[in-house]
Amino acid sequence: MINAPYPELDELITLIGEAGQRLSEIEASEGAAGNISVFIGWPIDPRRRFPLVESIMLPLPAPELAGFAFLISGSGRRLREIIQDPAANLGCLVIEEGGQSGRLYTSPQRLFINLTSEFNSHLAVHRDQVVASGTNFHAVIHAQPPHLTYLSHLPRYQDPIYLNRHILIWQPELIIQLPEGVGTVPFLVPGSPQLMDATVAALRKHRIVVWSKHGVVARSDVSVKRACDRIEYAEAGARYEYMNLATGEQAEGLSPEEIRSICRDLGVQQSIF
Ligand SMILES: [Zn+2]
Repeated sequence: MINAPYPELDELITLIGEAGQRLSEIEASEGAAGNISVFIGWPIDPRRRFPLVESIMLPLPAPELAGFAFLISGSGRRLREIIQDPAANLGCLVIEEGGQSGRLYTSPQRLFINLTSEFNSHLAVHRDQVVASGTNFHAVIHAQPPHLTYLSHLPRYQDPIYLNRHILIWQPELIIQLPEGVGTVPFLVPGSPQLMDATVAALRKHRIVVWSKHGVVARSDVSVKRACDRIEYAEAGARYEYMNLATGEQAEGLSPEEIRSICRDLGVQQSIF
């Protein structure tokens, strides 16, 4: 939830650009991998930045979000390039009455034909979270951080308890930043309704989930950067775990008792350790 005065459209666009750049720096968005969307629950006028308009059908109905807007990355666009030319890489979608269709506002510099192919999962997660919590802001990021994704190819790391007990032990911050841990979704075809449904369910309990053998999705109702931070924290834990596997599992990591003592002292509610 964001309190008034609300950020301007340009501020949100800049934050999306900075998040895209950071995801590229941590090698979580090779080529055109990854996508970002933001739900804006207050009135905005996109026409100065995005003067062209067309009507599109939504991948799923979202009547509760009628009248509200999203900023969404374009299919095939590179997250790292959003910051240099946001209008070329982003579209602004305003949901129409009834929630079956939307007005897509774009720029004459637009470099994409369609919105991201994962927009069905993005929209379903936004809708689920906005309806459940009443938030007026919600960010969703899909990225492909290599260490987390590599671990998800090892069957035992597809179990969320095993995964969290092996990635959250490497830094004291990790349990503080990710107290619900990282959720997991089995491999499902990118863009499919099955992946959309599993992602919605997993993001009810977690703020970041691994799409097994593919990447991650993170959400935040505070900022795009916060969602990006969650990816960075989880990937840092996965990188230590990978280092430990590569060196014959010689390191201890924080013990369950050490993690419980951090949580006791700092008032962190968690059920993983
Ligand atoms: Zn992907």
